[in-house]
Amino acid sequence: MNEREKLLETVRESEVEFIHLQFTDILGVMKNISITVDQLDKALNNEIMFDGSSIDGFVRIEESDMYLRPDLSTFVVLPWSSYPKEARLICDVFMADGTPFEGCPRNTLKKVLKEAYDMGYILNVGPECEFFLFHTNERGQPTIETHDDAGYFDLAPADLGGSARKEMTLVLKQMGFEIEASHHECAPGQHEIDFKYADALTTADNIMTFKMAVRIIAQRHGLHATFMPKPKFGLSGSGMHVNMSLQTLDGKNAFYDETDEMQLSKTAYHFLGGVMEHAKGFTAITNPTVNSYKRLTPGYEAPTIIAWSSGNRSPLIRVPSKREKSTRIELRSPDPSANPYIGLAAVLKSGLDGIKNNIEPPKPVNRNVYKMDESEMAERGIERLPANLYEAVQELLKDSVVQEALGRHALKKFIDAALYEWGEYSKYVSQWELDRYLRKF
Ligand code: ADP
Ligand code: MG
Ligand code: MG
Ligand code: MG
Ligand code: MG
Repeated sequence: MNEREKLLETVRESEVEFIHLQFTDILGVMKNISITVDQLDKALNNEIMFDGSSIDGFVRIEESDMYLRPDLSTFVVLPWSSYPKEARLICDVFMADGTPFEGCPRNTLKKVLKEAYDMGYILNVGPECEFFLFHTNERGQPTIETHDDAGYFDLAPADLGGSARKEMTLVLKQMGFEIEASHHECAPGQHEIDFKYADALTTADNIMTFKMAVRIIAQRHGLHATFMPKPKFGLSGSGMHVNMSLQTLDGKNAFYDETDEMQLSKTAYHFLGGVMEHAKGFTAITNPTVNSYKRLTPGYEAPTIIAWSSGNRSPLIRVPSKREKSTRIELRSPDPSANPYIGLAAVLKSGLDGIKNNIEPPKPVNRNVYKMDESEMAERGIERLPANLYEAVQELLKDSVVQEALGRHALKKFIDAALYEWGEYSKYVSQWELDRYLRKF
């Protein structure tokens, strides 16, 4: 039986009635075109067409006919559907003439992964997605109240968030995730669920699936799950640390070298050097909202300066002490509002640039970098991450390597959207300004 026949048999056996054909827009929002099972043959022949001009960051009306190509390996029955049973397939977007669409984030990532493969590497990625669980009000709208701090919910069952998280873990396991850990995070109502690393494309798909499952299960518990980076002032924000290693085509960890004092290979150092060199350039992609930059402030274990360390959790990059198979570097700036496909494409491209050009990373900084003052930073040549979305876009415009990772189409759409967002935000008069200036001036 070939892959297609196997899939059709699974669909029959599991009594699936609906299949959601999923893909992601440039801003990282999941899109769905749903079909009934009798249309599945057509879908597997790549004949499902949609209007690309209706999707954010896709195309103009003149060239709007686009086609979906389901990736059969992504088939999964959605455990929360009972009757009728539903399943999903993640798709790539193609043009009418059969060429991959440049603005499809999954195609963007595949292109960079191919470049890595041609250099002899597979990128393995393990993400740590943090999120908040908030109560909803009488009208079902999300609040920013959590059980831990909302006094009037005292009569609710003891740990609403905890039991929701337990169910999320079980549902994700049913969907094929290997859950390594799940725990309460620093802030009230904040959680983290970690799943095992995989190749970058699988991981990017997994991140999209993860967010969908977490939101749906939260809803079933009367809660709202948010991946907004900094929902509450004065508390930790939600990050999405990205753990990365390169694997050689014969299955070895290319970052491991037992003879080095830190047991890191030349490849690891150069990858690290490349990621640091382009950190300012890819921040707009890994931290794409105006709110992202409110997380990247001192004091909450989120990075602000471009440095690396072997243990300390305040710099941009940490090299965890685990070695051999788990030798990896942890990039701590990304947050879960990022589009995982183009985010990983931008970071990987940066690392590969480091390998190609033998970029040596600076010396590690093994102390609390929040405590370093401006003059010491200047002396050591240490720079900061962009302070806001506008600065980040300006840095992206200077970085041709990161630009190349995105490709011209996605780059333009991304920058237009980010600058529009910044423009809207800049015009808005906030409560903070009223509190600060209304009486003073
Ligand atoms: P932390 O110590 O930062 O809290 P976690 O234990 O929460 O880290 O998450 C570590 C992540 O790194 C997991 O997703 C894990 O699967 C992943 N990981 C482990 N080894 C590798 C590797 N060799 N390459 C990429 N990711 C890895
Ligand atoms: Mg963790
Ligand atoms: Mg951990
Ligand atoms: Mg965490
Ligand atoms: Mg971490």
